[in-house]
Amino acid sequence: MNILLLGGGGREHALAWKLAQSPRLDTLYAAPGNPGIAEQATLVDLDATDHRTVLDFCTRHSIGLVVIGPEAPLVDGLADNLRTMGVPVFGPNKKAAQLEGSKGFTKDLCQRAHIPTAAYQRVTSKDGAIAALDDFTLPVVIKADGLAAGKGVIIAETRQEALDALDTMFSGAFGAAGEEVVLEEYMTGEEASFFALTDGSAILPFGSAQDHKRVGDGDTGPNTGGMGAYSPARVLTPELERQVIDTIIAPTVATMAAEGMPYSGVLYAGLMLTDQGPKLIEYNARFGDPECQVLMMRFDGDLVDLLLSVAKGTLAEQGPVQLAERTALTVVMAANGYPGTPEKGGAIQGIEAAQAQGAMVFHAGTAQQGGALVANGGRVLNVTATGETVGAAQAAAYAAVDAINFPTGFCRRDIGWREVAREQA
Ligand code: ATP
Repeated sequence: MNILLLGGGGREHALAWKLAQSPRLDTLYAAPGNPGIAEQATLVDLDATDHRTVLDFCTRHSIGLVVIGPEAPLVDGLADNLRTMGVPVFGPNKKAAQLEGSKGFTKDLCQRAHIPTAAYQRVTSKDGAIAALDDFTLPVVIKADGLAAGKGVIIAETRQEALDALDTMFSGAFGAAGEEVVLEEYMTGEEASFFALTDGSAILPFGSAQDHKRVGDGDTGPNTGGMGAYSPARVLTPELERQVIDTIIAPTVATMAAEGMPYSGVLYAGLMLTDQGPKLIEYNARFGDPECQVLMMRFDGDLVDLLLSVAKGTLAEQGPVQLAERTALTVVMAANGYPGTPEKGGAIQGIEAAQAQGAMVFHAGTAQQGGALVANGGRVLNVTATGETVGAAQAAAYAAVDAINFPTGFCRRDIGWREVAREQA
């Protein structure tokens, strides 16, 4: 079977690496891909926002499955158009992708389906928002409704900070994403991510992970797309996982189907483990980046088979997802300047040496320049290793990091710290 993979980050490199291991694969195409993905796939120049061109490509190359990595094409309705043409696709339709594309949509769904989440109000004007503020205690969480690449969430500690945040949101700083705002009760607890595949009715758990959003050690500095992750997140015990499936995932899947917008793809639930049990922070409509890298490192099955059964609505025929017990941990190496303006063009050497130690180095923002590998984005490499414990996986990942020579890059040195501290306690 020929497969088209859309995206060009570390997440897509991890997906390409697993897809390429399937005996069912003939040719893997990727757009835009990156130099790491190019080792497994034929890179093609396709603009995912131009649906017509993507459809034509699928016809010309007998594509049997399209795997959509990032959220933007999903929220933009690419999966709808592919399905209409009869092309199997891994990823939800536009209406279902609202679970990621509109925070207000998701909060309303939670209310209808009695899913545990923070109390909230949707507001569409600054005056309305200021009036609604009185219903919340401080700190209060203020979110742009639409996609804002992780930058649309402000936790206001004081009323003045809340007013300033509302000023920013309604000033158009987030474009259409900020035309509507959601005010939320502030929840406390540890965060964890949980993943489940669904074809609209059957549900298969795909493990848990914990990421590290802040740029600096000790969770300091500005937010990023993610500086590292590990899986499984043992803080999400089997009992808590059961609770998440029963009280959050299953009612979501059932309600979406009952309301005529069945969700097909991976549901990525961002969770807060509160004193009252797990509560939903947000949904994403795709695998996380870098969480996907650690999930794929643990995944032992045939990814083509599994994603195709999601796309074709036959997930109920699959057995449980095979995930190794070992912990996988990934460290993001970013270019200096990230998450501001990253320095481009810095030389990278030593990937083979890192991989010779048993690690996998997934590419994100890299490019080939005159036969040499250079940095070409904010997050550049995902150095991923496994171990019997988080401590062992962490040691293996950093040994591999130290084999890489990337003088204009940096990484956090403490990925996995929560779990390592628990292991040592
Ligand atoms: P992401 O980059 O994770 O996709 P996002 O912009 O979609 O981010 P959320 O995941 O909703 O936004 O929020 C980002 C972070 O803000 C969460 O990971 C969490 O740390 C914090 N947060 C969001 N909502 C709440 C809440 N109600 N209470 C406490 N913290 C919250």
